[in-house]
Amino acid sequence: MKISSKFECKNVLFSVEVFPPKKENPVESIYAAAEKICTLSPDYVSVTYGAGGSAFQQKVTADLAAHLKKHGAEPLAHLTCVNSSLPEIRSMLRLLKENGVENILALRGDRAPEAGGDPELPHASDLIRFIRETGGGFDIAATCYPEGHPECDSLEEDIVYLREKVDRGATHLISQLFFDNGDFYRMLELCDKAGIHVPIQAGIMPVINSRQIQRMVSLCGAKLPTKFSKIMARYEGNPAALFDAGICYATEQIIDLISSGVRGIHLYSMNNFKVAETIHRNIKNILRGVNES
Ligand code: FAD
Repeated sequence: MKISSKFECKNVLFSVEVFPPKKENPVESIYAAAEKICTLSPDYVSVTYGAGGSAFQQKVTADLAAHLKKHGAEPLAHLTCVNSSLPEIRSMLRLLKENGVENILALRGDRAPEAGGDPELPHASDLIRFIRETGGGFDIAATCYPEGHPECDSLEEDIVYLREKVDRGATHLISQLFFDNGDFYRMLELCDKAGIHVPIQAGIMPVINSRQIQRMVSLCGAKLPTKFSKIMARYEGNPAALFDAGICYATEQIIDLISSGVRGIHLYSMNNFKVAETIHRNIKNILRGVNES
C-alpha cells in the first residue's frame, strides 16, 4: 500500500527504521529483529541503503524490504543517488518493483571520497524527478532537517530546496533526528510559509548509550539541549538507568509532538527491538486515541 494513502486514513503514523546486514553482520539476527518489529504493526518500516549503491547494497536493502512485506509490514526502501550512475539507479528501481516495494525514500546520500567526476544526479530533488520520469508508480518520500542540513548556510535556504523536492513529487517528509522539539516546530512554521503542505514526520532516536550519542552528533550535527546532556552525563556509567532515561526523554518528546499535531513519528531504533517495543508500549494508547478522533 502507498504511504500517501495511509496518511489519508490516519491522523498520525508510527513507523520504524531498520538497517540491512553489512557484510560482517550475521543476516539472521537482523532479520529476527526486523520480524519482531513487524509484530508492533507499525504503519511502515523503512530500510536504509548504503550510499555506495553497490550490487551488494542494492540486494540487501531490496531483500530486507521483501522480507518485511512477507511479515505483514509495508516497506519504504531508502535509495541514494550521489554515488550511482543512471543505469545503477534504474536497476535498483527494477529490483524494488520486482520485490513488490511501492514506497521509496529518495536521498542524495554523502559523496564517497573516492568518487570522481560530477554525479549524474547531484541532489535528492534530481532523484525524485528521475524516479517519476522512469515510471513504476512509486510513492516518494524525502528528508528534512529541523536544524538545517549541515552543508546549508541557513535553514531558510535549506527549505527553498525542500520545496523543490515536494514540487518534484515527494508526498511526505521524514525529519532528521533532533532533541529539541522547538527546532522541529520552527522548521514546520517555515515549511508552512514556503507552501510545503505535505505530511511531515518527526524522526526520534531514543538514546540508550553514550557511544551512540557521540556517533550521531558527529554524523548529523544534532544540537544537545542542556536537559539532555545532563541526563547522559548523570547515567553514563549505568546502562540500565541510561536505558530508562533515554526512553523517557524520547517518550516525552513524542507525546509533546503528537499533542502539537505532528502527522507522524519515525523511530530510529537502530534495529533494537527492545527500544522499539518499549516506546511503542508507552505511546500506543495515545496513537490509538488520536487516530480514533
Ligand atoms: P539533498 O536534499 O540533496 O540536500 C543536500 C544538501 O544540498 C542540503 O544542504 C541542501 O540544502 C542542498 N541542496 C539541495 N538541493 C540543492 C540544489 N538544487 N542546489 C544546491 N543545493 C541544494 N544516507 C544514506 O546513505 N543511506 C540512507 O539510507 C539514509 N537514510 C536517511 C534517512 C533520513 C530520514 C535522513 C534524514 C537521512 C538519511 N541519510 C541516509 C543521510 C542523507 O543521505 C544525508 O543527510 C545527505 O547528506 C543529504 O541527503 P538529502 O537527501 O537530504 O540531500
